[in-house]
Amino acid sequence: MALDAGWAQEWLRAAARAVAENRTHLMELDRAIGDADHGENMDRGFAAVVAKLDAGPPPATPAEVLKAAAMTLMSTVGGAAGPLYGTALLRAATSLGDAAEAQPDAVVAMLSAARDGIVARGKAESGDKTMIDAWTPAVEAAATAASAGAGPGAVLAAAANAAQAGAVATDPLVARKGRASYLGERSAGHRDPGAASTALILAAAAEAAGG
Ligand code: ADP
Ligand code: MG
Ligand code: MG
Repeated sequence: MALDAGWAQEWLRAAARAVAENRTHLMELDRAIGDADHGENMDRGFAAVVAKLDAGPPPATPAEVLKAAAMTLMSTVGGAAGPLYGTALLRAATSLGDAAEAQPDAVVAMLSAARDGIVARGKAESGDKTMIDAWTPAVEAAATAASAGAGPGAVLAAAANAAQAGAVATDPLVARKGRASYLGERSAGHRDPGAASTALILAAAAEAAGG
């Protein structure tokens, strides 16, 4: 399907379902190397996003949908993840501009802008065992798929698969950013919760596109 405002709404609704279904899993990941609240934070935030979508008039562009979600996440998700995901969606919205739908190159630019926003805010580098370790391979896989001529849904599917692989690849890493970094070497052997939630959110984007 076209990546229009309807797709953006369905993306966020699918993300909310995925986060709710994985709430306990995300809490367990965060219990191992953080403070056990990631599942609760994300579930509260995305439930608020869905409530906002349900209440408001239907937005005309995907950027409007993502901007509304960004504001809601920033104000309802506590901890590190709220501002980071809020910034990501805000930058994604700015990147899309007033386009009625996103073409493959715009999808790559949107994902890249989201990732850059998280880096600007949190200063994490690749390999620091954060959500960036899911976002960066996602951006790279999306760019590769788009230059090979993939359609927008296939670009998102490539991003989602790479994000999942990136999340799995955080398992052996030692955290250098965020709460998990307080554990030092003891953070190795556990998956980063934010990388895991990023994989869920990007899978929801692909699912909403029918991919
Ligand atoms: P908190 O650690 O404040 O409880 P959450 O548990 O909601 O926040 O989110 C933790 C996740 O946030 C981590 O798993 C990691 O992916 C991400 N994170 C934390 N700090 C940073 C950072 N500086 N840059 C990128 N991501 C980060
Ligand atoms: Mg936490
Ligand atoms: Mg916390």
